[in-house]
Amino acid sequence: MRRGLAAGNWKMNGLSTSLSELEALVAAHAEPGCEVLICPPATLIARAAQLAEGSAVMVGGQDCHAEGAGAHTGDISAAMLRDAGASHVILGHSERRADHGERDAQVRAKAKAAMAEELVTIICVGETLEERDASNTLDIIGGQLSGSIPDEATGHSLVVAYEPVWAIGTGRVAEPAQIGEVHDFIRGRLERRFGAGVGRSVRLLYGGSVKGANAAEIFAVSNVDGALVGGASLTAQDFSPIVTALEEAAD
Ligand code: PEP
Repeated sequence: MRRGLAAGNWKMNGLSTSLSELEALVAAHAEPGCEVLICPPATLIARAAQLAEGSAVMVGGQDCHAEGAGAHTGDISAAMLRDAGASHVILGHSERRADHGERDAQVRAKAKAAMAEELVTIICVGETLEERDASNTLDIIGGQLSGSIPDEATGHSLVVAYEPVWAIGTGRVAEPAQIGEVHDFIRGRLERRFGAGVGRSVRLLYGGSVKGANAAEIFAVSNVDGALVGGASLTAQDFSPIVTALEEAAD
């Protein structure tokens, strides 16, 4: 039985005052029927982790370096995330792949480092609109899965987020049938590579314009175990209904 995961990615949003949103989320979900995670910008991780300590809400990072320490100005290692109180890290988000030219091999190296620090690693995959229109979606996802996921992955350490690039921050949500096709494909690939035990225990999240209004429909799709949410995770008012929809989907 896979436990649902509602993960919020604040991206490059949030100042000290935004911690009140995390506070409200913690208060609203004292005993959630699913896992709840917020990944604030790096500047807020330590304070967010302190604030959420002892609560059901977990805190994660949005990226980490593949090396443990060294001359990498501006970067953060997995050990630093762990030290700041993070339990999870998002890797290979399409914005990092696009803005920073991250390739699958780099994502894999980062994931290996994150897993070695016992961070639960959310690896993002997803096709562009051009790739979908050219009927290349499954080829692209298959390549990203093989290239980005390290051999060390387990059902606990790995979460995969399917995020069609054309649905991120656009208000355009993939159709349930499109989500189902890709999630079933990812499940099959994981089972083939890691065996049924591990392959069936990895959580698969959908990401791309998830909101309170569309969450229930998305969570009803087979092999959708939760969501990675950008814009609608910035306030407790918007994120809370998504958490509730995931709790209800598990009932
Ligand atoms: C994301 O950043 O991972 C994301 C899915 O963003 P949004 O929910 O805003 O589309």
